[in-house]
Amino acid sequence: ATRTGRPPREAETHCPYCALQCGMVLRDTDDGRIEVQPRQFPTNRGGLCQKGWTAADLLDHPDRLTTPLVRDPSGTLRPASWAAALDRIVDGLRTVQRAHGRDAVAVFGGGGLTNEKAYALGKFARVALRTRHIDYNGRWCMSSAAAAGLRAFGVDRGLPFPLTDLGRTDTLLLVGANPAETMPPLMRHLTEQRARGGRLIVVDPRLTATARQADLHLQPLPGTDLAVANALLHVALTEGLIDREYVAARTEGFDAVRRTVAEYWPAEVERLSGVPVADLEATARALGTAGSAIILTARGAEQHAKGVDTVSAYVNLALALGLPGRPHSGYGCLTGQGNGQGGREHGQKADQLPGYRKIDDPAARAHVAGVWGVDPAELPGPGVPAYQLLDSLGTPDGPRALLVFGSNPVVSAPRAARVESRLRGLDLLVVADFLRSETAELADVVLPVAQWAEEDGTMTNLEGRVLRRRALRRPPAGVRTDLDVLADLAARLDAPDPVPVGPGAGPAVPAGGPVPGDTPDRFPTDPRVVFAELRRASAGGVADYAGVTWERIESADGVFWPCPDPDGPDSPRLFADTFPTPTGRARFHAVRHRPAAEPVCADYPLHFTTGRVLAQYQSGTQTRRVDALRRAAPHGFVELHPDLAARLGVGDGDEVRVASRRGELRAPARLSPTIRPDTVFAPFHWPGAARANSVTNDALDPVSGMPEFKICAVRVERA
Ligand code: SF4
Repeated sequence: ATRTGRPPREAETHCPYCALQCGMVLRDTDDGRIEVQPRQFPTNRGGLCQKGWTAADLLDHPDRLTTPLVRDPSGTLRPASWAAALDRIVDGLRTVQRAHGRDAVAVFGGGGLTNEKAYALGKFARVALRTRHIDYNGRWCMSSAAAAGLRAFGVDRGLPFPLTDLGRTDTLLLVGANPAETMPPLMRHLTEQRARGGRLIVVDPRLTATARQADLHLQPLPGTDLAVANALLHVALTEGLIDREYVAARTEGFDAVRRTVAEYWPAEVERLSGVPVADLEATARALGTAGSAIILTARGAEQHAKGVDTVSAYVNLALALGLPGRPHSGYGCLTGQGNGQGGREHGQKADQLPGYRKIDDPAARAHVAGVWGVDPAELPGPGVPAYQLLDSLGTPDGPRALLVFGSNPVVSAPRAARVESRLRGLDLLVVADFLRSETAELADVVLPVAQWAEEDGTMTNLEGRVLRRRALRRPPAGVRTDLDVLADLAARLDAPDPVPVGPGAGPAVPAGGPVPGDTPDRFPTDPRVVFAELRRASAGGVADYAGVTWERIESADGVFWPCPDPDGPDSPRLFADTFPTPTGRARFHAVRHRPAAEPVCADYPLHFTTGRVLAQYQSGTQTRRVDALRRAAPHGFVELHPDLAARLGVGDGDEVRVASRRGELRAPARLSPTIRPDTVFAPFHWPGAARANSVTNDALDPVSGMPEFKICAVRVERA
């Protein structure tokens, strides 16, 4: 194994993959291997999944990038020096911006970046490039739940309570979530819950590994979760299960919801969704009569063109039953990506500044501009959500250059073939990654950056708990950190020097951050310094990190935001007394079912939905290269009900073609009675012929910009 510098021999850190952020210890053994061991942490309780156990396999992987690559005139990516690669980028950016304006350059980030990198990337886009175009792949993960949470509660924190509450709640309703495959150690909390006599109810069109453990499984037609929620509230109303005192004292807008859900007769919803009336009634009673209850949504409910309204329907149900703010009760969302939560708090989103501030709010602009040492009038305005951004690339009004950090949209974007052609049409595509992803293969310049075990920083997990990522060793020779790359690029772009921080720049000045009178370093490369600046930028915002210090994180099992005061408490549980809305009350939103953006028809008679498998993660750039994971899940597949397969003349293992109006995928059939006969499923981790997102729909939620990944109309045939 390559070794540089003088690394510590052991580091307590967290898994690089999903939002559970399982605690682990890394050890640099004498024979050059990096050993991974789970450690006790409240989210994983000493467990890891296969992905966590094998996470270190990529550190010295032969595919690891250790030198920049620049595309030569013949079209081949060739090794180059850092100076040549960065000069090529800066020349390209300048040429594009001179010809087409500042907004002709765009930045695309990722939900796996640390808080420090997410913060620096947003600042880089707005201060160094001065473009309004930045968004990130978390738009495709969490944005519907985030928008619904904001409009109901005034805050978007995935779980507004610690994960350990799941083990202590009486009734747990999981909607479109399959943690047995996506976050296996989380199941320890569900095992505890059931051992205490709790009930687990799962809503999913597939009998997943999680649904198999449930007391009750509701198997609706994809895209009908909203109607199911409204029917549950209808039953709760007719059976007198509403917490009227709570609704009167702590909420507003219930009357409109009551009138709306009155139309959602269970028998009608059974016809629409396929969920029997008896199961709707049993679910409503299990929630409405329990001493405590939690409702959780995940991507199955959220990745729809009506994703925000669907989440609102479940939030309405939780509010009507008086759950948010009560012990071991409430509504929450299971965030997916490692820093899906923190990644959306610090300025990677097109409409946000750090601290979850709105970019079009004059006070927010003044505060952040003060921390950054720029004129608020110079800060760009809002950009557009991720898919709209990618779909506009290279068009007459769209950006002509794109910088991608920690994302692989060629595999993960909806309608991926179209996104791929947009990327191919750019004047300049830059990808910073540690492996040659499918997106990197299209790039003009590829920059090799550090991996998780080679960098310090912070991540914010699905509970809103800020954690420390600790380096075991330095990056190998030739590899730089993302912070270093951004600082170097900013310097070469002649980013304007910051002006001294003004006295009115913010309501709080955390220790260690720039203080009034200081001239801050424009783009610091030390993550500790970046975090200190982030704290100041977030001070007074919705996601307030002002009181979070690395020392404090280390002295406890992380720190829950909001935490405005270094000497004050953090916030593991929200909403006990009030909601952070202007009135202090939570807000109901009356929502109605709408059909899928693309209904089935004679030519495309089946519903198509996507998801994950245990041994792979996201676009698979990393996990497809780990031997043990590749053996466990070597290729994509198409899951079909045996009755459907018989009708189509397809046998188990036969190659099938799944075609939608946008493209097709080919993969072996996997027959399973666990899926509805009118629905087919494919995991989205694979590129090429098995790319599930060649088929998916790019219809967007009008509020969140979330694409409709989870349902479209397809035709299936033997290939
Ligand atoms: Fe890593 Fe998530 Fe697996 Fe935990 S559950 S080991 S965080 S991938």
